[in-house]
Amino acid sequence: MSVQSLKLPTILVPDHPHWPQLSDVERDAMKQRIAEKLKAQNAVLVAHYYTDADLQALAEETGGCVADSLEMAKFGAAQEAETLVVCGVRFMGETAKILNPEKRVIMPDLGATCSLDEGCPADLFTDFCDDHPDHTVVVYANTSAEVKARSDWVVTSGIALPIIEYLASEGKKILWGPDRHLGNYVQRITGVDMLLWPGSCVVHEEFKSVALERIRRLHPDAAVLVHPESPEHVIDQADVVGSTTALIKAVAEMKNKEFIVATDGSIFYKMQQMAPDKVLIEAPTAGEGATCVSCAHCPWMGMNALHNLDKLLDSDENEIHIDPATRERAVIPIQRMLDFSVQQGIGMKGKGNA
Ligand code: SF4
Repeated sequence: MSVQSLKLPTILVPDHPHWPQLSDVERDAMKQRIAEKLKAQNAVLVAHYYTDADLQALAEETGGCVADSLEMAKFGAAQEAETLVVCGVRFMGETAKILNPEKRVIMPDLGATCSLDEGCPADLFTDFCDDHPDHTVVVYANTSAEVKARSDWVVTSGIALPIIEYLASEGKKILWGPDRHLGNYVQRITGVDMLLWPGSCVVHEEFKSVALERIRRLHPDAAVLVHPESPEHVIDQADVVGSTTALIKAVAEMKNKEFIVATDGSIFYKMQQMAPDKVLIEAPTAGEGATCVSCAHCPWMGMNALHNLDKLLDSDENEIHIDPATRERAVIPIQRMLDFSVQQGIGMKGKGNA
């Protein structure tokens, strides 16, 4: 089976959910209520940088964490809490469960998925891998537990480059999935030829290179920060290419006053918190060929809100379950990545992840 002959499923991108507006008083009351329920249930909140600012603030205020996907899972493992409440998308809840099988992992909406995960169905991916048995299978964290179970290595954007360089030095042929833009970026930097699964992130794919050039001309002193899930012509204009954690670090540490940011706009909460005096500008998603399916805000991440988190904590629903045999296989490539990061002295937190 060749890449060209792959018939990927059509991805149905949901509309952005519209949550009822809250007054400040209502918001504070809801946050207080949720905080009390978390405590009563021995639960801890772990939220991704792409979720709503209220959720990120609440996670911080209640002793939880706001992080990239891998740090979310690692944070969960270090907690005594019996329940992990994962605000993010489905593969993040699954990874948390894979690494913490004894804990209860729940999410505000189990329908919150990801175009990379959706665009890489396990059966099709398995057939593709089986057709290339001489290749080492490397998958991005944004995949289902079943896809991880079929892989040899899981990587995040922060550790992909050294792992690919290491595998190439061992003479391995590499099959990469599912994000073709990140895969293409890794190929260009390392010079390693890889067989790329043709998936993409609907949010990052929308950033437009011509419109970005225009904005750069309007803000000539601004640094351009780009997540590597973006298209090549956008990446080529970046001063910094990196994961969510790396981009936040760049805002905090670079001398520039202005930053044009090509990733999900919800990351501005953390960037502004780390560097309140910096000016953040959303990279353009409008322009020639624009569809603005997401407008730089992931619709699946948007399915997490105070409203459904509050309800979740009154129910027994939305728990993540993973078939034990799948979990047993999926934990191997994840652990391989974690061990590699320790051996190589690569701080996962500092380098950043998906
Ligand atoms: S921003 Fe893109 S990669 Fe991240 S969860 Fe949404 S669709 Fe997936």
